Amino acid sequence: MENLSIEKNVKGYNGNNNFILSLKDGLEKYGRLTEKQLNAASNFFTKLNNRNSEFIKSVINPTQKNVNVNIKVGNYIAKTISSDNNLTFTPFLMTISKVLRVTEKAYRVVGKMNTSDVSSCRLCGRDLKDWRSHVTGIGPVCSKNLGIPYVRKKEDVDTYKKQVKEKIDKIGDLTFWIPKSQIKEGYDELENQIKNAG
Ligand SMILES: [Zn+2]
Repeated sequence: MENLSIEKNVKGYNGNNNFILSLKDGLEKYGRLTEKQLNAASNFFTKLNNRNSEFIKSVINPTQKNVNVNIKVGNYIAKTISSDNNLTFTPFLMTISKVLRVTEKAYRVVGKMNTSDVSSCRLCGRDLKDWRSHVTGIGPVCSKNLGIPYVRKKEDVDTYKKQVKEKIDKIGDLTFWIPKSQIKEGYDELENQIKNAG
């Protein structure tokens, strides 16, 4: 980056990076930056521009990849999905079917609540304790939130699972942003499938 354009970037900077803000002050006061400051600012703006163009690329060229991955999401995202979609529970286990966008730190995905066998409660992410939770993938409290009477005996299981599936199908596909750091399980698999989806 040329010195003039670095100074122009510093003068026009209105972000909240303290270092660049201090250079901006210095530049206004003394009219120039030292060689060292110019280098540091140049690195900063080069990185910032790369990040911005990555983001713009991802917006212009939506990724749109078909995948089939089960993920477990973090508490924060489960709650966000829940409130964004007016659900009476928090969906922790999701089956992702499409990746719409990829940025450095997040994905925009389409997913549905997981209906396959799971090892933790699909509605709160907690460990499953008794046989009912194990066969249904839902604990008793979450079942209540879902609005489906819980299984009492083995014979109820099939009907119960059918009701859950109907409910989940009715909720259908959910579209949401998920920060990579909020994917607690299934991250590697998702990355792999995105790469191999071509
Ligand atoms: Zn639960």
